[in-house]
This record gives sequence, C-alpha cells and structure tokens, in this order.
Amino acid sequence: MGEIKLTDVKKSFGALAVLKDIDLHIRHGEFVVFVGPSGCGKSTLLRTIAGLEKVSGGEIEIDGKRVNEVTAADRGLAMVFQSYALYPHMSVRQNLAFGLENSNMPKAEITERINEAARMLEIEAYMDRRPGQLSGGQRQRVAIGRAIVRRPTAFLLDEPLSNLDAELRVSTRAELAALHGRLGSTMIYVTHDQVEAMTLAHRIVVMRAGKIEQVGTPLELYNEPANRFVAGFIGAPH
Ligand code: ADP
Ligand code: MG
Repeated sequence: MGEIKLTDVKKSFGALAVLKDIDLHIRHGEFVVFVGPSGCGKSTLLRTIAGLEKVSGGEIEIDGKRVNEVTAADRGLAMVFQSYALYPHMSVRQNLAFGLENSNMPKAEITERINEAARMLEIEAYMDRRPGQLSGGQRQRVAIGRAIVRRPTAFLLDEPLSNLDAELRVSTRAELAALHGRLGSTMIYVTHDQVEAMTLAHRIVVMRAGKIEQVGTPLELYNEPANRFVAGFIGAPH
C-alpha cells in the first residue's frame, strides 16, 4: 500500500506548462523529498497526486490502480499544508474529527482514531482548546494529526515545517522521522530546506522548471550530482 507511480504526468494552467513529463515510481513506505526553486511545480505535483488538480496528460497510479478519474476523497491519501488550515472555531478534538464524521464511520472508531493520533503526537493536554490558543508547533501537530486519523496509505506534506522557528523545526523534523518509522506509510514531502531533505529522505527528487532534474539517495546526490544545479541544491561542492 502507498505505492505511487507517475507516468508522463503533465499539468498546464492555460498556456503555462507547469509539469512536463514527470516519471517517478514511489515505493511503499518510502520517504521521498522534493526540492527545487520556488515556482518549479512542487506544490502542483503534490496537488495532482492528491487529486486536488486534474492532470493534463499522463497517468497516476496508486497501488496499481489508475486514479486520474478518482476524486481526492477516494484516493486514500492525506495532505498536510504549510499553513495549518485548521478550523479556528473548533476545538482540537473537533478539528481531528472533522471529515471522519462526514463518513459512515462508527463513533467508537472515530474516538479511537482521535485518541491514538493524540497519543502519538502528544497533544492530549490541549484537545479542548481552539487553534488560536495554541503555539505554531502545536498547531502543526494538530494538522498532522488530522492527516493521521484518516489512516492514509500515503502522506503528502507541502513545506509542513516552514512556518516554525528554527528550534521547533529541528524537533518537529525528528518527530516526523519517528512517526514515519512507526506508521510505515509512504511520505511525499516538499521542502526548500536542504538539511530537512538530507536527513529525512530515502530519495530526493530535484525539480527544475516542471521537470525532474535528478533522483537519488541523499548520498548519491551529494557524491554524484548530475550538474551544478543539483549540486547547488544539495549543498555539494561543485
Ligand atoms: P512551487 O510549489 O514549486 O513553488 P507551484 O507548484 O506552486 O510551485 O507553482 C508552479 C507554477 O504554477 C507557478 O508558476 C505558479 O504561478 C503556477 N500555478 C500554480 N497554481 C496555479 C493555478 N491554480 N493557476 C495558474 N497558475 C498556477
Ligand atoms: Mg509550493
């Protein structure tokens, strides 16, 4: 579960070609990190995988099933954004429950999932608070919790730590790595932070102007960058 295959994926907005022939096979449980300059199409790629944008060409498969016509809700994935996108008028508990309550899930199961996520993220102490009463780091945990309760086969995280201060970024990064170890789900992660990419990724995908420039393990990209552009992004000598 959580295997994602992109074949020749293209996405245009009007005349603007944002994704050009993206080919990538993401394995079950893999932690894949996308890096690349602002505007190169990272968020758009995540949104097309999530089903929030339709592809203009090519094929997306999840666990062997073609999903171009499958809605976001039915793809079994969960997305975490840079801005937490929590409901300000709801408690943490209600934020976590939102979405599950609209399904046919039994109440007991919803409660169990919420409690499990709360334990995992150590947010039990503020389940009855509203987002406005939380720190940035606490809010981002709730946002991650909202993804966890859905038990997705893959998590799509778009610069989830970039609103946190440096110290909190480091500790939350370590928590994310631990969480990945525990859940074993596929993680598809966008960042512009080279240290995050190097420490979290099984494989790093370097993007440039809507194309994949190079894919490899952090060590491969560091030792053998395909060109100066990749080297610059990875922080390798060049
Ligand atoms: P990144 O996340 O790498 O910074 P994005 O995927 O957000 O890049 O954007 C890639 C390009 O697509 C940018 O030129 C952006 O302006 C454009 N773009 C993104 N979303 C839309 C949209 N809904 N309509 C038109 N253009 C868009
Ligand atoms: Mg982006």
